[in-house]
Amino acid sequence: MRYNLIRKMDISNGPGVRVSIFMQGCAFHCKNCFNPETWDFNGGKEEFTDDTIKEVLELCEPEHIKGLSILGGEPMHPNNIEGTTKLAKAFKERYPNKTLWIWSGFLFDKDLKDKEVLKYVDTLVDGQYVDELHDFKLKWRGSSNQRVIDVQESLKQGKIITLE
Ligand code: SF4
Repeated sequence: MRYNLIRKMDISNGPGVRVSIFMQGCAFHCKNCFNPETWDFNGGKEEFTDDTIKEVLELCEPEHIKGLSILGGEPMHPNNIEGTTKLAKAFKERYPNKTLWIWSGFLFDKDLKDKEVLKYVDTLVDGQYVDELHDFKLKWRGSSNQRVIDVQESLKQGKIITLE
């Protein structure tokens, strides 16, 4: 598994100032994807390793960093989900009071609800980007089919609870 980019300070992917990491590889190939350079599973910057996790966790340490955002590419693709889960777990264990947001083209109810990774996620923005449903006014998502899901509340209540 590889990753594309780490941003030390990101103010556009989730609330507050955050660290973000873009995983490499996505098989969905949505029309007019915002990030097509992340499609190739062999592309990106370098291998995602334990050192990558260490680096991300250290970047999350300062008080002004409100949380971590994991995007792509596709963090939940079978090729990437193990590394995403490892990072998510390590982040939540070290920073229980900071938030973890993940963006995925897979769906919470159809594909993800039984995956271990969701135990560590505060907010999941799910669904592939649909260009015909694009709307600039939407917050945190590109098209209106996508959902901004409160993961822990949704798991507790057994139904999807959205934030937006
Ligand atoms: S799921 Fe995301 S990264 Fe993958 S093609 Fe669609 S918009 Fe691009």
